[in-house]
Amino acid sequence: MRPDELHERHRAVLPAWLSLYYEKPIELVRGEGFRVWDSEGNEYLDFFGGIVTTISGHAVPEIVEAVKEQAQRILHSSTLYLIESQVRLAEKLISLSPISGEQKVFFVGSGSEANEAALLFATQYRGSSEVIALRGSYHGGSFGTMGITGQSSWRPTPRTALDVSYALPPHRSYSPLYARYDDPEELARACAEDVRSLIQTSTTGRVAAFIAEPIQGVGGFIELPPAYLSRVKEILDEHGVLFVSDEVQTAFGRTGSHFWGIEHSGVEPDLITMAKGLGNGLAIGAVMGRAEIIDALSPKLHISTFGGNPISTAGALANLEYILENDLQKNADEVGGYLKERLLALAREHRCVGEVRGRGLMLAIELVRDGAPDPRAATAFMEACRERGVLVGKGGLAGNAIRISPPLTVTREAAGEAARVFDEALSSVE
Ligand code: PLP
Repeated sequence: MRPDELHERHRAVLPAWLSLYYEKPIELVRGEGFRVWDSEGNEYLDFFGGIVTTISGHAVPEIVEAVKEQAQRILHSSTLYLIESQVRLAEKLISLSPISGEQKVFFVGSGSEANEAALLFATQYRGSSEVIALRGSYHGGSFGTMGITGQSSWRPTPRTALDVSYALPPHRSYSPLYARYDDPEELARACAEDVRSLIQTSTTGRVAAFIAEPIQGVGGFIELPPAYLSRVKEILDEHGVLFVSDEVQTAFGRTGSHFWGIEHSGVEPDLITMAKGLGNGLAIGAVMGRAEIIDALSPKLHISTFGGNPISTAGALANLEYILENDLQKNADEVGGYLKERLLALAREHRCVGEVRGRGLMLAIELVRDGAPDPRAATAFMEACRERGVLVGKGGLAGNAIRISPPLTVTREAAGEAARVFDEALSSVE
Protein backbone atom coordinates (compact mmCIF):
# COMPACT_ATOMS: atom_id res chain seq x y z
CA MET A 1 0.00 0.00 0.00
CA ARG A 2 1.28 3.49 -0.87
CA PRO A 3 2.25 5.60 2.23
CA ASP A 4 -0.31 8.34 1.46
CA GLU A 5 -3.13 5.78 1.18
CA LEU A 6 -1.97 4.05 4.36
CA HIS A 7 -1.89 7.43 6.11
CA GLU A 8 -5.46 8.18 5.05
CA ARG A 9 -6.70 4.80 6.27
CA HIS A 10 -4.71 5.26 9.50
CA ARG A 11 -6.53 8.55 10.11
CA ALA A 12 -9.90 6.92 9.44
CA VAL A 13 -9.62 4.08 11.94
CA LEU A 14 -7.05 5.12 14.57
CA PRO A 15 -7.49 7.86 17.21
CA ALA A 16 -7.16 11.44 15.96
CA TRP A 17 -4.66 12.27 18.74
CA LEU A 18 -2.28 9.47 17.73
CA SER A 19 0.38 11.76 16.36
CA LEU A 20 2.83 10.64 13.71
CA TYR A 21 6.33 11.91 13.06
CA TYR A 22 6.97 13.81 9.81
CA GLU A 23 4.71 15.75 7.50
CA LYS A 24 4.61 12.71 5.24
CA PRO A 25 4.70 9.86 7.77
CA ILE A 26 6.81 6.86 6.90
CA GLU A 27 6.23 3.14 7.30
CA LEU A 28 9.31 1.25 8.42
CA VAL A 29 9.20 -2.25 7.01
CA ARG A 30 12.66 -3.68 7.65
CA GLY A 31 15.61 -3.20 9.94
CA GLU A 32 19.11 -4.55 10.29
CA GLY A 33 21.45 -3.45 13.07
CA PHE A 34 21.18 0.33 13.36
CA ARG A 35 19.67 0.79 9.88
CA VAL A 36 16.00 0.71 8.84
CA TRP A 37 14.19 0.85 5.50
CA ASP A 38 10.79 2.31 4.67
CA SER A 39 8.13 0.90 2.35
CA GLU A 40 9.51 2.96 -0.53
CA GLY A 41 12.98 1.49 -0.19
CA ASN A 42 14.62 4.51 1.51
CA GLU A 43 17.38 3.64 3.95
CA TYR A 44 17.88 5.46 7.27
CA LEU A 45 20.24 5.46 10.21
CA ASP A 46 17.89 4.66 13.09
CA PHE A 47 19.00 7.20 15.69
CA PHE A 48 15.85 6.95 17.79
CA GLY A 49 15.74 3.15 18.12
CA GLY A 50 11.97 2.72 18.23
CA ILE A 51 11.67 5.28 21.08
CA VAL A 52 14.82 4.28 22.95
CA THR A 53 13.88 0.60 22.75
CA THR A 54 15.90 -1.21 20.08
CA ILE A 55 19.00 -1.48 22.22
CA SER A 56 20.75 -4.38 20.47
CA GLY A 57 19.71 -3.37 16.96
CA HIS A 58 17.19 -4.72 14.48
CA ALA A 59 16.92 -8.34 13.36
CA VAL A 60 19.69 -9.62 15.63
CA PRO A 61 19.99 -13.29 14.55
CA GLU A 62 20.48 -14.63 18.11
CA ILE A 63 17.29 -12.87 19.35
CA VAL A 64 15.28 -13.80 16.25
CA GLU A 65 16.35 -17.42 16.67
CA ALA A 66 15.38 -17.50 20.37
CA VAL A 67 11.93 -16.05 19.59
CA LYS A 68 11.41 -18.40 16.64
CA GLU A 69 12.52 -21.44 18.58
CA GLN A 70 10.16 -20.55 21.45
CA ALA A 71 7.23 -19.75 19.12
CA GLN A 72 7.56 -23.15 17.51
CA ARG A 73 7.26 -24.87 20.88
CA ILE A 74 4.65 -22.88 22.84
CA LEU A 75 3.55 -19.26 22.42
CA HIS A 76 1.68 -18.85 25.66
CA SER A 77 1.01 -20.77 28.85
CA SER A 78 0.30 -18.00 31.44
CA THR A 79 1.95 -17.22 34.75
CA LEU A 80 -0.04 -20.01 36.43
CA TYR A 81 2.53 -22.48 35.12
CA LEU A 82 6.28 -22.70 35.45
CA ILE A 83 8.20 -21.00 32.64
CA GLU A 84 11.92 -21.74 32.54
CA SER A 85 12.94 -18.66 30.54
CA GLN A 86 11.07 -16.45 33.05
CA VAL A 87 13.02 -17.87 35.98
CA ARG A 88 16.30 -17.67 34.09
CA LEU A 89 15.61 -14.06 33.06
CA ALA A 90 14.82 -13.09 36.67
CA GLU A 91 18.05 -14.75 37.84
CA LYS A 92 20.03 -12.95 35.15
CA LEU A 93 18.55 -9.55 36.04
CA ILE A 94 19.21 -10.08 39.75
CA SER A 95 22.81 -11.03 38.98
CA LEU A 96 23.19 -7.64 37.24
CA SER A 97 21.23 -5.64 39.83
CA PRO A 98 22.76 -2.68 41.68
CA ILE A 99 20.50 -3.50 44.65
CA SER A 100 22.00 -5.61 47.43
CA GLY A 101 20.40 -8.44 49.38
CA GLU A 102 17.58 -10.80 48.51
CA GLN A 103 15.63 -9.69 45.45
CA LYS A 104 12.59 -10.63 43.40
CA VAL A 105 11.41 -9.77 39.89
CA PHE A 106 7.80 -9.34 38.76
CA PHE A 107 7.24 -9.38 34.99
CA VAL A 108 4.62 -7.36 33.14
CA GLY A 109 3.99 -6.27 29.56
CA SER A 110 5.15 -2.63 29.47
CA GLY A 111 6.84 0.24 31.28
CA SER A 112 3.55 1.69 32.49
CA GLU A 113 2.58 -1.60 34.07
CA ALA A 114 6.02 -1.90 35.66
CA ASN A 115 5.59 1.49 37.33
CA GLU A 116 2.00 0.65 38.35
CA ALA A 117 3.26 -2.52 40.01
CA ALA A 118 6.20 -0.77 41.70
CA LEU A 119 3.86 1.85 43.15
CA LEU A 120 1.45 -0.84 44.27
CA PHE A 121 4.24 -2.69 46.08
CA ALA A 122 5.66 0.51 47.61
CA THR A 123 2.32 1.90 48.79
CA GLN A 124 1.29 -1.42 50.29
CA TYR A 125 4.62 -1.99 51.98
CA ARG A 126 4.66 1.49 53.48
CA GLY A 127 0.93 1.68 54.22
CA SER A 128 0.72 5.05 52.50
CA SER A 129 -0.65 6.35 49.22
CA GLU A 130 1.72 9.34 49.15
CA VAL A 131 4.29 9.54 46.39
CA ILE A 132 6.85 12.13 45.31
CA ALA A 133 7.59 12.45 41.60
CA LEU A 134 9.55 15.03 39.67
CA ARG A 135 8.37 17.84 37.46
CA GLY A 136 9.13 16.99 33.86
CA SER A 137 8.96 13.24 34.50
CA TYR A 138 7.18 10.69 32.33
CA HIS A 139 6.16 7.38 33.87
CA GLY A 140 3.52 5.97 31.52
CA GLY A 141 0.09 6.16 29.97
CA SER A 142 -2.03 4.22 32.50
CA PHE A 143 -4.20 6.03 35.06
CA GLY A 144 -1.74 5.62 37.93
CA THR A 145 1.37 6.47 35.94
CA MET A 146 -0.24 9.45 34.20
CA GLY A 147 -1.03 10.65 37.71
CA ILE A 148 2.66 10.73 38.66
CA THR A 149 3.85 12.12 35.32
CA GLY A 150 5.12 15.67 35.76
CA GLN A 151 4.10 16.99 32.33
CA SER A 152 0.53 18.16 31.91
CA SER A 153 0.59 17.50 28.16
CA TRP A 154 0.82 13.78 28.98
CA ARG A 155 -1.77 13.90 31.76
CA PRO A 156 -5.34 14.32 30.50
CA THR A 157 -6.69 13.32 33.92
CA PRO A 158 -6.10 15.36 37.08
CA ARG A 159 -6.99 12.55 39.49
CA THR A 160 -5.18 9.41 40.55
CA ALA A 161 -5.50 6.93 43.38
CA LEU A 162 -2.20 8.29 44.68
CA ASP A 163 -1.45 11.49 46.57
CA VAL A 164 1.32 12.98 44.49
CA SER A 165 3.69 15.85 45.23
CA TYR A 166 6.05 17.09 42.53
CA ALA A 167 9.62 18.07 43.36
CA LEU A 168 11.91 20.31 41.33
CA PRO A 169 14.63 18.65 39.29
CA PRO A 170 17.87 20.64 39.20
CA HIS A 171 17.69 21.73 35.58
CA ARG A 172 16.92 25.15 34.17
CA SER A 173 14.02 23.76 32.08
CA TYR A 174 12.01 23.17 35.25
CA SER A 175 13.65 24.80 38.18
CA PRO A 176 12.91 28.41 39.15
CA LEU A 177 15.88 28.05 41.49
CA TYR A 178 18.13 27.86 38.47
CA ALA A 179 18.68 31.58 38.15
CA ARG A 180 19.86 31.80 41.77
CA TYR A 181 22.68 29.28 41.57
CA ASP A 182 25.67 29.44 39.23
CA ASP A 183 27.19 26.36 40.75
CA PRO A 184 25.43 23.15 39.62
CA GLU A 185 26.36 21.43 42.89
CA GLU A 186 24.64 24.15 44.89
CA LEU A 187 21.56 23.94 42.66
CA ALA A 188 21.52 20.16 43.14
CA ARG A 189 21.68 20.59 46.92
CA ALA A 190 18.93 23.23 46.92
CA CYS A 191 16.62 21.02 44.85
CA ALA A 192 17.36 18.04 47.08
CA GLU A 193 16.43 20.13 50.12
CA ASP A 194 13.17 20.91 48.33
CA VAL A 195 12.34 17.20 48.67
CA ARG A 196 12.82 17.44 52.43
CA SER A 197 10.64 20.54 52.52
CA LEU A 198 7.98 18.79 50.44
CA ILE A 199 7.90 15.83 52.83
CA GLN A 200 7.67 18.14 55.85
CA THR A 201 5.13 20.62 54.50
CA SER A 202 3.00 18.87 51.90
CA THR A 203 2.61 15.29 53.08
CA THR A 204 1.60 13.47 56.23
CA GLY A 205 5.28 12.64 56.67
CA ARG A 206 4.70 9.01 55.80
CA VAL A 207 5.52 8.99 52.09
CA ALA A 208 5.59 5.62 50.33
CA ALA A 209 8.02 6.34 47.53
CA PHE A 210 10.05 8.80 45.54
CA ILE A 211 10.15 7.88 41.84
CA ALA A 212 12.60 9.32 39.32
CA GLU A 213 14.21 8.57 35.98
CA PRO A 214 18.02 8.90 36.30
CA ILE A 215 17.83 10.70 32.95
CA GLN A 216 14.37 12.07 32.20
CA GLY A 217 13.52 10.52 28.85
CA VAL A 218 10.36 12.04 27.38
CA GLY A 219 11.36 15.18 29.30
CA GLY A 220 14.19 15.65 26.79
CA PHE A 221 17.09 13.57 28.17
CA ILE A 222 17.64 15.68 31.27
CA GLU A 223 20.12 14.04 33.58
CA LEU A 224 19.62 14.19 37.33
CA PRO A 225 23.09 15.02 38.67
CA PRO A 226 24.66 12.32 40.89
CA ALA A 227 25.05 14.90 43.69
CA TYR A 228 21.28 15.54 43.59
CA LEU A 229 20.33 11.88 43.63
CA SER A 230 22.69 10.95 46.44
CA ARG A 231 21.51 13.85 48.63
CA VAL A 232 17.86 13.00 47.90
CA LYS A 233 18.56 9.40 48.86
CA GLU A 234 19.94 10.53 52.26
CA ILE A 235 16.82 12.62 52.88
CA LEU A 236 14.53 9.73 51.83
CA ASP A 237 16.38 7.36 54.15
CA GLU A 238 15.87 9.78 57.05
CA HIS A 239 12.11 9.58 56.41
CA GLY A 240 11.88 5.87 55.48
CA VAL A 241 10.76 6.69 51.92
CA LEU A 242 11.46 4.08 49.22
CA PHE A 243 13.46 5.04 46.14
CA VAL A 244 12.06 3.77 42.83
CA SER A 245 14.40 4.17 39.87
CA ASP A 246 12.40 4.25 36.64
CA GLU A 247 14.95 2.76 34.25
CA VAL A 248 12.55 2.22 31.36
CA GLN A 249 14.86 4.31 29.13
CA THR A 250 18.16 4.25 31.03
CA ALA A 251 18.88 0.55 31.65
CA PHE A 252 21.00 -2.07 29.89
CA GLY A 253 24.04 0.09 29.17
CA ARG A 254 22.15 2.85 27.36
CA THR A 255 23.92 5.54 29.42
CA GLY A 256 27.39 3.98 28.87
CA SER A 257 29.95 2.99 31.54
CA HIS A 258 27.21 1.58 33.83
CA PHE A 259 24.54 -1.02 33.17
CA TRP A 260 21.84 0.92 35.04
CA GLY A 261 21.36 4.69 34.85
CA ILE A 262 21.13 5.02 38.63
CA GLU A 263 24.63 3.59 39.08
CA HIS A 264 26.22 6.86 37.93
CA SER A 265 25.07 8.35 41.24
CA GLY A 266 26.09 5.43 43.45
CA VAL A 267 22.56 5.44 44.88
CA GLU A 268 21.08 2.03 45.74
CA PRO A 269 17.37 2.11 44.94
CA ASP A 270 14.77 -0.12 46.59
CA LEU A 271 12.96 -0.93 43.35
CA ILE A 272 13.89 -0.63 39.68
CA THR A 273 11.37 -0.58 36.85
CA MET A 274 12.33 -1.48 33.30
CA ALA A 275 10.80 -2.22 29.89
CA LYS A 276 11.76 -0.92 26.39
CA GLY A 277 15.35 -2.22 25.94
CA LEU A 278 14.65 -5.33 28.06
CA GLY A 279 12.98 -7.05 25.11
CA ASN A 280 14.71 -5.06 22.34
CA GLY A 281 11.21 -4.45 20.95
CA LEU A 282 9.33 -7.39 22.47
CA ALA A 283 6.53 -6.33 24.81
CA ILE A 284 7.99 -6.94 28.26
CA GLY A 285 8.52 -4.93 31.43
CA ALA A 286 9.57 -5.75 34.97
CA VAL A 287 9.94 -4.54 38.53
CA MET A 288 13.01 -5.75 40.35
CA GLY A 289 13.89 -5.00 43.93
CA ARG A 290 14.05 -5.90 47.56
CA ALA A 291 12.24 -9.18 48.15
CA GLU A 292 10.59 -8.00 51.37
CA ILE A 293 8.83 -5.18 49.49
CA ILE A 294 7.70 -7.24 46.50
CA ASP A 295 6.69 -10.26 48.60
CA ALA A 296 4.67 -8.12 51.03
CA LEU A 297 1.72 -7.71 48.64
CA SER A 298 -1.55 -8.58 50.32
CA PRO A 299 -3.95 -10.02 49.31
CA LYS A 300 -1.60 -12.08 47.16
CA LEU A 301 -3.59 -11.62 43.99
CA HIS A 302 -1.66 -9.52 41.52
CA ILE A 303 -1.36 -11.17 38.14
CA SER A 304 -0.42 -10.30 34.58
CA THR A 305 -1.61 -12.67 31.84
CA PHE A 306 1.21 -11.77 29.49
CA GLY A 307 3.84 -10.70 32.02
CA GLY A 308 6.84 -12.99 31.72
CA ASN A 309 5.32 -15.05 28.94
CA PRO A 310 7.55 -17.62 27.21
CA ILE A 311 8.18 -15.67 24.03
CA SER A 312 9.09 -12.31 25.58
CA THR A 313 11.28 -13.83 28.29
CA ALA A 314 13.11 -16.11 25.83
CA GLY A 315 13.72 -13.10 23.59
CA ALA A 316 14.74 -10.84 26.48
CA LEU A 317 17.18 -13.46 27.76
CA ALA A 318 18.82 -13.71 24.32
CA ASN A 319 18.88 -9.90 24.20
CA LEU A 320 20.62 -9.58 27.59
CA GLU A 321 23.16 -12.21 26.58
CA TYR A 322 23.81 -10.32 23.35
CA ILE A 323 24.29 -7.02 25.23
CA LEU A 324 26.74 -8.61 27.66
CA GLU A 325 28.67 -10.78 25.20
CA ASN A 326 29.21 -7.84 22.84
CA ASP A 327 29.93 -5.37 25.65
CA LEU A 328 27.43 -2.92 24.18
CA GLN A 329 27.72 -0.76 27.29
CA LYS A 330 31.38 -0.10 26.38
CA ASN A 331 30.40 0.76 22.82
CA ALA A 332 27.72 3.13 24.14
CA ASP A 333 30.39 4.81 26.22
CA GLU A 334 32.92 5.14 23.40
CA VAL A 335 30.63 6.02 20.48
CA GLY A 336 28.40 8.11 22.76
CA GLY A 337 31.43 10.05 24.02
CA TYR A 338 32.58 10.68 20.45
CA LEU A 339 29.10 11.73 19.31
CA LYS A 340 28.69 14.07 22.26
CA GLU A 341 31.98 15.77 21.38
CA ARG A 342 30.72 16.23 17.81
CA LEU A 343 27.40 17.66 19.10
CA LEU A 344 29.21 20.04 21.45
CA ALA A 345 31.28 21.24 18.47
CA LEU A 346 28.02 21.86 16.56
CA ALA A 347 26.68 23.82 19.53
CA ARG A 348 29.68 26.14 19.27
CA GLU A 349 28.99 26.73 15.57
CA HIS A 350 25.20 27.03 15.54
CA ARG A 351 23.41 29.71 17.56
CA CYS A 352 20.15 27.71 17.48
CA VAL A 353 21.63 25.05 19.79
CA GLY A 354 20.75 25.96 23.36
CA GLU A 355 22.22 22.93 25.07
CA VAL A 356 23.76 19.54 24.34
CA ARG A 357 23.20 17.02 27.13
CA GLY A 358 22.96 13.36 28.07
CA ARG A 359 25.22 10.38 28.61
CA GLY A 360 26.27 7.35 26.60
CA LEU A 361 23.90 6.89 23.68
CA MET A 362 21.14 8.98 25.23
CA LEU A 363 21.97 12.44 23.91
CA ALA A 364 19.88 15.52 23.23
CA ILE A 365 20.23 18.80 21.35
CA GLU A 366 17.98 21.57 22.58
CA LEU A 367 16.90 24.05 19.89
CA VAL A 368 16.32 27.70 20.74
CA ARG A 369 15.70 31.03 19.06
CA ASP A 370 16.93 34.12 20.90
CA GLY A 371 17.41 31.91 23.93
CA ALA A 372 13.77 30.70 24.01
CA PRO A 373 12.67 27.11 23.24
CA ASP A 374 11.96 26.65 19.52
CA PRO A 375 9.72 23.62 18.92
CA ARG A 376 9.20 24.58 15.26
CA ALA A 377 12.93 24.38 14.67
CA ALA A 378 12.88 20.90 16.24
CA THR A 379 10.21 19.74 13.79
CA ALA A 380 12.08 21.29 10.84
CA PHE A 381 15.35 19.74 12.06
CA MET A 382 13.75 16.29 12.16
CA GLU A 383 12.41 16.71 8.62
CA ALA A 384 15.84 17.85 7.38
CA CYS A 385 17.49 14.82 9.00
CA ARG A 386 14.91 12.48 7.56
CA GLU A 387 15.49 13.87 4.04
CA ARG A 388 19.19 13.12 4.56
CA GLY A 389 18.60 9.58 5.84
CA VAL A 390 18.71 9.94 9.64
CA LEU A 391 15.78 9.36 12.03
CA VAL A 392 15.81 11.08 15.43
CA GLY A 393 13.19 11.75 18.12
CA LYS A 394 11.74 14.78 19.82
CA GLY A 395 10.87 15.59 23.43
CA GLY A 396 11.14 18.09 26.26
CA LEU A 397 8.62 20.21 28.06
CA ALA A 398 8.48 22.66 25.14
CA GLY A 399 8.98 19.99 22.45
CA ASN A 400 12.30 21.57 21.43
CA ALA A 401 14.70 18.78 22.40
CA ILE A 402 16.02 16.44 19.71
CA ARG A 403 16.47 12.99 21.20
CA ILE A 404 19.28 10.80 19.86
CA SER A 405 19.28 7.18 20.98
CA PRO A 406 20.54 4.71 18.36
CA PRO A 407 20.98 1.00 19.07
CA LEU A 408 24.08 0.46 21.20
CA THR A 409 25.73 -1.39 18.32
CA VAL A 410 26.14 1.84 16.34
CA THR A 411 29.62 2.48 14.97
CA ARG A 412 31.80 5.58 15.20
CA GLU A 413 31.55 5.93 11.41
CA ALA A 414 27.75 5.96 11.52
CA ALA A 415 27.80 8.45 14.41
CA GLY A 416 30.13 10.65 12.35
CA GLU A 417 27.81 10.41 9.37
CA ALA A 418 24.84 11.38 11.58
CA ALA A 419 26.79 14.33 13.02
CA ARG A 420 27.48 15.56 9.48
CA VAL A 421 23.72 15.36 8.74
CA PHE A 422 22.94 17.20 12.02
CA ASP A 423 25.33 19.98 10.95
CA GLU A 424 23.47 20.42 7.63
CA ALA A 425 20.08 20.18 9.34
CA LEU A 426 21.07 22.86 11.87
CA SER A 427 22.20 25.16 9.04
CA SER A 428 18.87 24.59 7.31
CA VAL A 429 16.77 25.64 10.33
CA GLU A 430 18.87 28.62 11.42
N1 PLP B 1 8.76 5.21 32.13
C1 PLP B 1 9.54 5.88 31.28
C2 PLP B 1 10.77 6.57 31.81
C3 PLP B 1 9.22 5.95 29.92
O1 PLP B 1 10.01 6.65 29.09
C4 PLP B 1 8.06 5.28 29.46
C5 PLP B 1 7.69 5.34 28.05
O2 PLP B 1 8.19 6.11 27.26
C6 PLP B 1 7.28 4.59 30.38
C7 PLP B 1 7.66 4.56 31.71
C8 PLP B 1 6.05 3.87 29.93
O3 PLP B 1 6.42 2.74 29.20
P1 PLP B 1 5.39 2.06 28.18
O4 PLP B 1 5.18 3.03 27.06
O5 PLP B 1 6.09 0.78 27.78
O6 PLP B 1 4.15 1.79 28.93
